[in-house]
Amino acid sequence: MSNPSLSPTVDALVIGAGPAGLGTALALQAVDGITYGILEQATIGHTFEQWPDAMSLLTPSFTGNAFGAIDLNAIHPRTSPALLLQTDYPSGREYAHYLQKLTEHYEVPVVEHTAVEQVTPTDDEQFEVTPSRGVLTARTIVWAGGEFARPSIPPIPGAGLAVHSSDAAAWAPREQEPVIVIGGYESGIDIACTLAARGNHVTVLDPETPWERASSDPSVTLSPRTQVRLREARATGRLELRGGVAADAIAEHDGGYVVTASDGTTLSSAARPILATGYRPHLGPVEHLFDSRADGWPALTGDDESTITPGLFLAGPAVRHARLHLCFVYKFRQRFAHVAHTVGTRLGMDTSALKAWKTSGMWVEDVSCCDTTCAC
Ligand SMILES: Cc1cc2nc3c(=O)[nH]c(=O)nc-3n(C[C@H](O)[C@H](O)[C@H](O)COP(=O)(O)OP(=O)(O)OC[C@H]3O[C@@H](n4cnc5c(N)ncnc54)[C@H](O)[C@@H]3O)c2cc1C
Repeated sequence: MSNPSLSPTVDALVIGAGPAGLGTALALQAVDGITYGILEQATIGHTFEQWPDAMSLLTPSFTGNAFGAIDLNAIHPRTSPALLLQTDYPSGREYAHYLQKLTEHYEVPVVEHTAVEQVTPTDDEQFEVTPSRGVLTARTIVWAGGEFARPSIPPIPGAGLAVHSSDAAAWAPREQEPVIVIGGYESGIDIACTLAARGNHVTVLDPETPWERASSDPSVTLSPRTQVRLREARATGRLELRGGVAADAIAEHDGGYVVTASDGTTLSSAARPILATGYRPHLGPVEHLFDSRADGWPALTGDDESTITPGLFLAGPAVRHARLHLCFVYKFRQRFAHVAHTVGTRLGMDTSALKAWKTSGMWVEDVSCCDTTCAC
């Protein structure tokens, strides 16, 4: 992949070349006359390249585009990961390949290996951006730095002894040995099923018993794919789900680990306990330019813009409006066109080509009517 350079002044600068950043850039491309580009600290789809081999997307891909049912993992209305990859549940590496192919096909200007270290609003309502090399000026910034870089660690004694599920080491305990998984949402059940299938004896603790929830929203309950895998794992007899029970502390004992549960019981394992406790938003160099909601997530206007820094937008799974969490690709992609339209309109540019996002069902303008929470 070539590494284009960006002009020193752009209308819109996107930071991060994951699905959120690339999807927003593709929507910006439809704004007539706009100058834009992406800075990426590593490579396109870097987060997905880091996924442990056993992990795959839990949202299915299918070639339904021709009938108006856009592939759930697509970030552009005219593409389908299922068609490119010939699989329904892409691995991290496969999905990164889709993102790379898309970048090439649509000639999205992405500068790789260029981390943004500082973003400073200027007096003339622009931003001075300091990447690892050079300086840029942007009229608008879209932060799309993802969440993978910021695992959520519970504030319990000994949490530092555990390994987070985003770490490849969590997926490689020795065969047959008992494993304790703290957290029973998507990532906890995912790793528990994988390890039970490999012969490990797995105990999952979660005070909320998420595997029993029933809802029409796959973000509230486990996804259908995970439910199927859960039934298979339970049938092995090697998976124990302990709902209503939290992990209160982790300690080292006799060369292994002991987890004290909230019901007073203890669990032991030679392997480090696994924290499947989710993620926090990774805002990096723009953290100080967002206010926080009471729950710690970034406060946003109805246009996904910072409430304290006009011109700074957010894209991806950290976008939250009231109880609505746009955690999956098929949810947060609904905002790419909206952000591009908002940016283009403010610059006095023609955004009519974004109609393709609307007619494809990839643009929700008003999020106040949606009301779901996320279980990942
Ligand atoms: C374990 C896991 C499983 C998931 N499974 C699914 C699923 O099955 N289906 C689904 O729809 N969603 C899933 N999600 C949710 C969501 O799709 C992913 O989190 C996705 O990676 C979010 O895309 P993104 O573009 O926001 O972030 P990322 O893909 O993480 O991209 C962010 C990019 O920003 C770059 N970056 C960060 N900081 C800087 C900086 N300072 N300068 C320049 N670049 C920077 C990073 O290198 C990275 O390439 C999952 C999430 C996780 C964590």
